[in-house]
Amino acid sequence: MATIAFIGLGNMGNPMAANLVKAGHSVQGFDLITENLETAASNGVTVMASAEAAVKDAAVIITMLPAGKHVLSVYADIAPKAARGALFIDSSTIDVESARKAHAIAAENNLLSIDAPVSGGVGGAEAGTLTFMAGGSADAFAKASPILEPMAGRVVHCGEGGAGQAAKICNNMILGISMIGVSEAFVLAEKLGLSHQALFDVASTSSGQCWSLTSYCPVPGPVPASPANRDYKPGFAAGLMLKDLRLAQEAAQGAGAVTPLGAEATQLYALFNAMGHEGTDFSGIVNFLRGKES
Ligand code: NAD
Repeated sequence: MATIAFIGLGNMGNPMAANLVKAGHSVQGFDLITENLETAASNGVTVMASAEAAVKDAAVIITMLPAGKHVLSVYADIAPKAARGALFIDSSTIDVESARKAHAIAAENNLLSIDAPVSGGVGGAEAGTLTFMAGGSADAFAKASPILEPMAGRVVHCGEGGAGQAAKICNNMILGISMIGVSEAFVLAEKLGLSHQALFDVASTSSGQCWSLTSYCPVPGPVPASPANRDYKPGFAAGLMLKDLRLAQEAAQGAGAVTPLGAEATQLYALFNAMGHEGTDFSGIVNFLRGKES
């Protein structure tokens, strides 16, 4: 079992760290928010006074932070303090350029690193069923796999440094676009006098089938587990969807990729967020398309 530093104990980080403790690892945690540290302590994490203190003697350092600037600042502080041969795993969702810079900081300090963003949300973090999309060398990935295992349903090695973040934002661009597409179809069906269930029964077994329809249906009824059945309580908040769509647009501009539907989805989610729905599940966009705010 390893000594693991866990930095960023928020909605995702805390349940992930708890699963590492349950698996028998010794976890040294740090966050800026006292309440999050208290939760971590109640889960068996040893709370440390700083990120630098948390990495002391740790073989693995996991970060779960809001954005690229936080990851780069924390890496700059802790990489020089890390034990020789330590492995850095960044599971935050950040821009590809910052992810590559984070790998460079680790390499300058002779440390192994992978970017390993996740999908599966807080529910997946609690259940230990997250999908990890990893970027980094084969050596770093081989060392990271058993550490990720107690938190994961699936771990995919996507390629070299930054490839995990690339996979994450491509996937979530599909998700944002497809949720709007499915929602538009339900709004049109309503205007045409077609019931939600009838459209679901046809499209879920026809060429319109997709995850946004069959696992996360944006109208109440056909998929009992979807947030539409609990007044669009997240789930996956619209604010996080907008973050990921913006990262995809930034990456598309940098790489010269043509993504007009991704751009449109970003605009629609920006409007939805600006109307006060940052904390609403992203499938609540169906109400916005209907012309109804909530
Ligand atoms: P969160 O805001 O709940 O947690 C982030 C934590 O990082 C906070 O507790 C904050 O205090 C801490 N932090 C910030 N700067 C720090 C620093 N310098 N040192 C120590 N701690 C610091 O966010 P979250 O929902 O846990 O998401 C974390 C990451 O995971 C984000 O990049 C997000 O996009 C991604 N993500 C979230 C979800 C989700 O459903 N919440 C799903 C997939 C991916």
